[in-house]
Amino acid sequence: MRIGQGFDVHAFEAGDHCRLGGVDVPHTQGLKAHSDGDVLLHALCDALLGAAGLGDIGRHFPDSDEAFRGIDSRELLRRVMAQLDARGLCVINADLTLVAQAPKLAPYVDAMRDTIAQDLGVNASRINIKATTTEHLGFTGRKEGIAAFAVVLLDE
Ligand code: MG
Repeated sequence: MRIGQGFDVHAFEAGDHCRLGGVDVPHTQGLKAHSDGDVLLHALCDALLGAAGLGDIGRHFPDSDEAFRGIDSRELLRRVMAQLDARGLCVINADLTLVAQAPKLAPYVDAMRDTIAQDLGVNASRINIKATTTEHLGFTGRKEGIAAFAVVLLDE
């Protein structure tokens, strides 16, 4: 088995929703990014690539490449999964944590879980998503952005 972890942060900017875990969450701000800013899927991609020993998301999908401007991060996730599939690696489980003071994420967690399970080709019971605040401390607590952590276990 192989374990991997990922971490990502995106800052807020003007907007009316945040794309998180492939789901559009209504909010008074959006997330600043070259892609769609899906911080949760970026952390997940990094965990998957890390477990597979394949580097990181920036190496595979550089933000200097116009091909990735505004790209749906589900597409990035599916491309990562294709690389894992080609190496005979499959996902045992993924445990993901979103860190945000706002917006309230609990109502959207089940939809994110289903979306991610679909892209990973696993049963939703293998995906866990947690959402927490930082009790108004730090950059997430000041509502300057959102952070995400991901841990995955692969079978080879
Ligand atoms: Mg990112």
